[in-house]
Amino acid sequence: MPAEFPVERSETAFTDYKLPLSPAQAAVEAGRCLFCHDAPCVTACPTHIDIPQFIRKIANGNDRGAAKTIFESNILGMSCARVCPVEVLCVGACVYNDLDEPPIQIGKLQRHATDRAFDEGWRFFKAGAPTGRRVALVGGGPASLAAAHELRRLGHACTIFERRDFLGGLNTTGIAPHKLKADRSVTEAAWVLEIGGVELRTGAEIGRDVSLADLERDFDAVFVGIGLGADSRAKVPGEDLPGVLGAVDWIERMKLGDAGLAGVRRAVVVGAGNTAMDAARELLALGVPQVTTLYRGTEDAMGGYAHEWRAARVAGVRAEWRAVTTAFEGAGRLERLRCVRVDEARTPVAGSQFTLEADLALLAIGQSRLGAVLAGLKGITVESGIVRVDAHGFTGRPGWYAGGDCANGGKEVVNAAAEGMAAARAIDRALAAGGGIGRKEVPRG
Ligand SMILES: Cc1cc2nc3c(=O)[nH]c(=O)nc-3n(C[C@H](O)[C@H](O)[C@H](O)COP(=O)(O)OP(=O)(O)OC[C@H]3O[C@@H](n4cnc5c(N)ncnc54)[C@H](O)[C@@H]3O)c2cc1C
Ligand code: SF4
Repeated sequence: MPAEFPVERSETAFTDYKLPLSPAQAAVEAGRCLFCHDAPCVTACPTHIDIPQFIRKIANGNDRGAAKTIFESNILGMSCARVCPVEVLCVGACVYNDLDEPPIQIGKLQRHATDRAFDEGWRFFKAGAPTGRRVALVGGGPASLAAAHELRRLGHACTIFERRDFLGGLNTTGIAPHKLKADRSVTEAAWVLEIGGVELRTGAEIGRDVSLADLERDFDAVFVGIGLGADSRAKVPGEDLPGVLGAVDWIERMKLGDAGLAGVRRAVVVGAGNTAMDAARELLALGVPQVTTLYRGTEDAMGGYAHEWRAARVAGVRAEWRAVTTAFEGAGRLERLRCVRVDEARTPVAGSQFTLEADLALLAIGQSRLGAVLAGLKGITVESGIVRVDAHGFTGRPGWYAGGDCANGGKEVVNAAAEGMAAARAIDRALAAGGGIGRKEVPRG
């Protein structure tokens, strides 16, 4: 793994928000599971891990078997155990919720088994017999890693093209450090690729260093997992002032190096999605005394999960609802945001102007979409920057598949893993049936 992050990074100040279970706690929690038939927790998981089966194995003292069950369905099961919004997925679906009992702590049990697999160096998978076919994976985030692992199990040679110097995508650069730190994400990527047979081309950007024509010439199929792009801009005066930054950009600086918060006393985060909630909590935790979120809608309509907002509010984050910023101002660097209240139609309310003093403003109002990089490839449809695919990740152009944020518009790591794996299986079926680049695509079963 080429990346060497500084040992002292701003993110290393964070400790885990959700503490791991001790072996005794894991045994007790596993023993509570009802091992439901047609378990709703399994349906709620995008990778459909056999949750009752892995929990039963933990209850029987078989952590190794539990880890294998998890990784069979989701090779990124270690990071997903920490980063998945389980409250709205498996844990939210647990039958105990209907019985007025605490739901099973599935994420923590998954972490118990997968952390052990990492710590003890357990390995479960081997590459399949070589097929002689080559697949390119564009991007080295969760979607491509999951796809590459599955393709190797099926015997296809893989090459990952990643424009950065390291793997993991947003799992490395974006996830809140109280869930997962950058070095653990790159360690996971290396662990996944220990299956062997994956050539790494880091520092190689498709569309700049390597052309689409190169990929078509050299490979039998391509999986595109390029995620989303830079933070969206607010398009109001003053947003180029020092002290106004994109939230995803700032989170990356904080995770990989220095958050640059010396002298910052008041920060405003514009937006109310999960990135905004993360950024606000991270600013407070790193010692900024006053952190305010500014959102044009109401609390009920915010994009972030209710549990994330609850945690932010408990930590001390304040919110201004139904308000927008009209200008960032300051002499040489940010000093204040001019703001105005808006009505339901987002029309400014006359006479409602107010000012928020701030040394730092983070824009968390979305990310650009990168699908345009595929423009010009006949058969591929890109709508508002999102690559259109079918349920198997097929783009419509023979041999070309996509998954993860670039195709779903921005979901979770577990969705990227599920889509990468589904696309890998579809690529395998297409290649086995004589399809692939330059050939007539064979319909998938
Ligand atoms: C701040 C933030 C916090 C988040 N928190 C959570 C969370 O707690 N839990 C959760 O489940 N999800 C979370 N997510 C979402 C999650 O990170 C993504 O859904 C997931 O990483 C998507 O995986 P991906 O592989 O599709 O894309 P990415 O992770 O974005 O990876 C794409 C990779 O492609 C590379 N790339 C892009 N263009 C090119 C090119 N032209 N050539 C070569 N390489 C290229 C990029 O450098 C990147 O490494 C968060 C997202 C953000 C922004
Ligand atoms: S729904 Fe809850 S109790 Fe039932 S199998 Fe899943 S975790 Fe166990």
